[in-house]
Amino acid sequence: MALQRVLNIGTQLISRKFHISQPSSKAVIIDGKKISKQIQSELKASVDSWVLAGNRRPKLVAVLVGNNEASKLYVKKKCVTAESIGIDSETITMCEDTSQDDLIRVVEELNHDHSIDGVLVQLPLPNNIVEREICSAVAPAKDVDGFHLANMGRLCLGDRGIVPATALAVRELISRSNIETKGKNAVVIGRSKHVGLPIALLLQGDGKGQVGALDMTTTICHRYTPHEELKKYTQLADVVISAVGIPRLLTKDMIKPGACVIDVAINRELVNGKWKLTGDVDFNEVAEVAGHITPVPGGVGPMTVIMLMKNTLEVSQKRPQQLIYEVGKELEDTGRKLLNKYN
Ligand code: NAD
Repeated sequence: MALQRVLNIGTQLISRKFHISQPSSKAVIIDGKKISKQIQSELKASVDSWVLAGNRRPKLVAVLVGNNEASKLYVKKKCVTAESIGIDSETITMCEDTSQDDLIRVVEELNHDHSIDGVLVQLPLPNNIVEREICSAVAPAKDVDGFHLANMGRLCLGDRGIVPATALAVRELISRSNIETKGKNAVVIGRSKHVGLPIALLLQGDGKGQVGALDMTTTICHRYTPHEELKKYTQLADVVISAVGIPRLLTKDMIKPGACVIDVAINRELVNGKWKLTGDVDFNEVAEVAGHITPVPGGVGPMTVIMLMKNTLEVSQKRPQQLIYEVGKELEDTGRKLLNKYN
């Protein structure tokens, strides 16, 4: 009896030991700036050898409509980064009252210009222009933002296409930090078509497909997810991605100890009389429980720009093949027209 009691107490102590969570250490900070610098030099080496092999230097054209100061800064950053890698870049600026038809005409000219590999139209656009129409006016083969219906569709199906840069940035930060993903739980907060949704698609997709998805059990939360429900989901998540735009939306009590927290948001906040960039995550407190965390600034932001460059290099490397296809198609159309004429 006494021996049995000792054994029971021993078993309880052992099982309790295994259920006590480890004291939380400070999270590893995922340094997006450092990782993006590494990728920048990898891309520069690829561009150099592409050009050395006799190919034309890749070229990116950005179209900037209106006077949005943040958009001007983003476009400038993209062009400076492109040049640093050896990608030629050009910005076409158009006034605030540009009509949708005029913008589509400019995009179509760029689509037909064989000296250009990548085209992007900086969002947001003035209210008189329907963004979806513009995103789908860019030729899918030049759509470095990956916002064209064809590219979004390919991402949904796990087929090779162009994946939006922010989603690629998030995946790259996760995989370069050796975070385990297969079969793990992810929560993406935010479901916008250009940010939250593509991130969720890339996390949930089949790793055996062509896009390099992460096989995660993925939940999408949005503005109609009650905060208490959001908390239940995030508490179960091994990876939490926040792409909302509300400072301190994510607090310590919402995070599973050891989880990886990726903050996509960029908010401008007035702190002690100075403008500061912050994300959705209450960084200092969440870093106490998370295993990995991205800072804002210096996390997803620099990675997004560099992944856009990766897309630009990839589309330029596919150009020769694409040209053969386009010329072949033009010949076929002309042949068909001639046949119709003489039949
Ligand atoms: P958006 O306004 O289009 O979408 C915001 C999303 O948040 C929506 O899906 C909405 O349903 C959801 N949401 C709103 N309130 C919520 C709440 N209380 N709880 C849960 N979900 C809520 O914005 P966006 O274009 O998707 O951008 C999101 C954030 O990411 C912004 O801060 C933006 O500046 C930033 N961003 C960063 C990068 C980068 O490279 N780091 C790139 C693009 C966007």
